Amino acid sequence: MDYSNIIAKHISAIPRSGIRDFFELVQGRDDVISLGVGEPDFTTPWHIREAAIYSLEKGQTTYTSNLGMLSLRKSISKYVSGFFHVDYSAEKEIIVTVGVSEAIDLALRALLNPGDEVIYHEPCYVSYSPSIVMAYGEAVAVETTKQDGFSLKPEALAAAITPRTRMVMLNFPTNPTGAVASRADLEGIAALCIKHDLIVMTDEIYSELRYDGEEHLSIAALPGMKERTILLHGFSKAFAMTGFRLGYACAPQPIIEAMMKIHQYAMLCAPIMSQNAAIEALENGTPSMLKMRDSYHQRRDFVVRRLNEMGIDCHTPGGAFYVFPDISKFGLSSKEFAMKLLEAESVAAVPGTAFGACGEGFLRCCYATGFDDLKLAMDKIENFISTLK
Ligand code: PLP
Repeated sequence: MDYSNIIAKHISAIPRSGIRDFFELVQGRDDVISLGVGEPDFTTPWHIREAAIYSLEKGQTTYTSNLGMLSLRKSISKYVSGFFHVDYSAEKEIIVTVGVSEAIDLALRALLNPGDEVIYHEPCYVSYSPSIVMAYGEAVAVETTKQDGFSLKPEALAAAITPRTRMVMLNFPTNPTGAVASRADLEGIAALCIKHDLIVMTDEIYSELRYDGEEHLSIAALPGMKERTILLHGFSKAFAMTGFRLGYACAPQPIIEAMMKIHQYAMLCAPIMSQNAAIEALENGTPSMLKMRDSYHQRRDFVVRRLNEMGIDCHTPGGAFYVFPDISKFGLSSKEFAMKLLEAESVAAVPGTAFGACGEGFLRCCYATGFDDLKLAMDKIENFISTLK
């Protein structure tokens, strides 16, 4: 049977994730040190796991409200108010989703009409462009540069805005670069969004993972922005809860209502045991989260120092758990560099091009990996580049 006409055209046109392609090569090899997958090496703190277990023990095995348990939404509202300094109504302005991944999909599908343009900054998380395309939008990438610390400059955003632009997608701290945005840049971006009447979707999943004592600033907290911002956050990264599949979106009620329509038919609700665990994370999880953050901080400092010492130019990222070193001077493409590093030294890192064409010449290394493995990986990378010089 010829399936080429069976698959929807806009889905056929979406390329497979570059990360997935690369990691199929690594699967089943236990000799490989992986700096590849963007996932905490910590197990979810015990008291959070226990809350999920208690939930099952108490026989809480049902659906919840489509929006998520009200008790969880109240915890989210309190946490978001304290951490992001923006107030959202637990009853009307918060929806609990299956990861930030689902929240991205809901927001795009709820807001876009076919052909609407969505601007996002590259290099970026692999799902952004495909998610826009799946919602029948037009994905418009704005390149960021090493010189600008991979942050989105308002001038670059201004140049990309057209009469068809509907939304701007932000992600600070950024996957894959660890970039953060300055207050001045966020204010410039906010001014443009107000001027051109654009909606901002801001994926702040790494917001707790800021280093050097810097505080996270959300664009939603800037004057005039709450009414045009969809703030996305979740539990996967800072609370090491990837497998719980839980996230949330905070936005004005009409937007949450539209997202809820899609969610109630496509997903119904997020799992109840994950929601119970999330309440525990928000109410009592900050001390364990801060310990994990401090450990990532130490690892960031170690990895950046080692890469620079061995002659690989690596900026110091302000957040998340990725470094994005510049490997262009070795005369190999990102993919060639990553493949040869894997072949020669069994170290897996992701070619920068998996995150957009402007990632050429870079490599993404996730340092949410045990210190011993990180040390070994750095020695092996040093060994590998000595063969290239
Ligand atoms: N957003 C960004 C920027 C990410 O890096 C990831 C995962 O790597 C996600 C969203 C997906 O998060 P979740 O596990 O909450 O679906």
